[in-house]
Amino acid sequence: MHIGIVSPGIYTYGAMLIGGVLRAAGHEVAISRAAEASAGEVLLLSLFSTQHLLDPAIRDLVRTHRASGGVVYVGGPVSAAPEMVIGELAPDAVVVGEGEETILRLVDEGVSPGLPGIAYRDDDTVVVTDPAPPASLDRPLPLIPPDIGSQSIRGASAYIETHRGCIGGCTFCQVPRFFGRTIRSRSLDDVIAEVKAFKEMGATRLSVSGGTGSLYASRDGTVNAGAFVELLARMAEVMGPRNISSPDIRVDCITDEVLEAIRRYTIGWVFFGVESGSDRVLRLMGKGAKVRQVEDAVAACREHGLKVAGSFIVGYPGETEKDYEKTKDLIASLCLDDVFVSSAEPIPRTPLADLVLTTPREKNPAFVPHTGEYRPLHLTESEARCFDLMMHADMFRPQMRLVTDEVYNTYLGEARTQGADIRAATGLLFRYYGTRE
Ligand code: SF4
Repeated sequence: MHIGIVSPGIYTYGAMLIGGVLRAAGHEVAISRAAEASAGEVLLLSLFSTQHLLDPAIRDLVRTHRASGGVVYVGGPVSAAPEMVIGELAPDAVVVGEGEETILRLVDEGVSPGLPGIAYRDDDTVVVTDPAPPASLDRPLPLIPPDIGSQSIRGASAYIETHRGCIGGCTFCQVPRFFGRTIRSRSLDDVIAEVKAFKEMGATRLSVSGGTGSLYASRDGTVNAGAFVELLARMAEVMGPRNISSPDIRVDCITDEVLEAIRRYTIGWVFFGVESGSDRVLRLMGKGAKVRQVEDAVAACREHGLKVAGSFIVGYPGETEKDYEKTKDLIASLCLDDVFVSSAEPIPRTPLADLVLTTPREKNPAFVPHTGEYRPLHLTESEARCFDLMMHADMFRPQMRLVTDEVYNTYLGEARTQGADIRAATGLLFRYYGTRE
């Protein structure tokens, strides 16, 4: 069968993985980052953001492909909200959750109520079949496109999967809901075979994906430093240490051995999801870590000669001005090498989405008009904090960055875009899972 996979904007690992599974089953598979399809092929859309459901190019692709008699299936993280996907895109079916085994049966057998792990429309009803069991992590090589070397996701050609699941329970994050809170790891030989395949196809840098790289091969949710060191050492043997990164890590999942391995076998960066400088907000977010642990973790990284980046979330429902000031203070004291700021986004089926559904709009910072110093810019409270924090962070980098007009406008545009996207995503949430618009 001819199958086209569309992974909008970037070749996600999940899309390449599904492509590899289908290719190994004998199908002819092509993968594209553009919203395009060939007549007659089965079209698989691998979507990771609620925004994809609103993207005119994607909506148009599904409509025209189906109108020409083609079949369209949708999978990926958006499948956590199958009713929303079916309501917005009207595909033939949604592959819910880990899709690599379900998609094989769906392509061969078509939609049926007896097939676990799918959702589809039956007259006016959305049918969601029983959940499929977690997929096996033993699988063929992914379908790696020949232009993978041109891709840069935070500097990496691809983020490859070494394990699934996260021990964390952060309320805004889909990972533990999608993959579970128990760590399941791939065999090291399989990972290395994949690294070699990526290199042969032109990948210039590979990154370890997942909430916390150092949980690779963890059996009880604690760090298995030996396994992690061996993972990085063998990846670096293939790619060279300057071409490996393992940035994402929880502040409570580091040890001296882990940090030393990151220094020795990777580009030497660590990326912490710090989120807030307020212990109260960290508790609301279910981070499972305190500001003190963040400070200690950053100091430990510096002792090992590592660069440290941090991500922050503003506008979480319940975040007060005082909480926000604490975040600014933390950024000032940490002097991080890079900072990423985002407004809290309610991803469907996360506890944050549930919270947003029960938060009156007049108390949700994504909708509350900002009345402080940026009032002339007509921002919401979330947008104002997002913009303000991006500019604030620039003043406390080790190498201070000048806020030129261009930088100012870029940050303002980014804050506004995030705000508009979040309001649109919130609107969808209410339409499909809430009682109020
Ligand atoms: S630690 Fe990271 S991956 Fe795990 S739940 Fe929190 S944000 Fe998600």
